[in-house]
Amino acid sequence: MNNKKIFENIINKKTPSKIIYQDKKITAFNDISPKAPIHILIIPNKFIKNLNKITKKNLKILSHMIYMSKKIAKKKKINKSGYRIIINCNKDGGQKIKYLHIHLIGGKKLKNF
Ligand code: 5GP
Repeated sequence: MNNKKIFENIINKKTPSKIIYQDKKITAFNDISPKAPIHILIIPNKFIKNLNKITKKNLKILSHMIYMSKKIAKKKKINKSGYRIIINCNKDGGQKIKYLHIHLIGGKKLKNF
């Protein structure tokens, strides 16, 4: 299976996953290999490869992903304790899945860089 297909199959529910939130534009689901008690991935339903592909034209989707990250953080009750969002881009950035995603991570004290 090609790499982006993994997330496409989660969106269209061909692959089972714990979907936390879904609307017409985005899907949020639990990471299969969580790095913290809360580790949720937020992705656009329409394929975008990575942050390099964000333009003035499609910028709205990224704002929606970020806005929903904070809403989900509140729903998961980590808004006050704190959390982190991360977008990895390409090889040096550690992007393994070639499909734009935000990592929403929290539920414990995260190490600083
Ligand atoms: P990246 O390293 O590309 O920024 O992050 C990819 C993330 O996708 C990783 O945290 C990895 O655990 C997660 N992941 C990879 N395959 C699957 C899968 O099949 N299901 C889910 N829910 N997460 C996945």
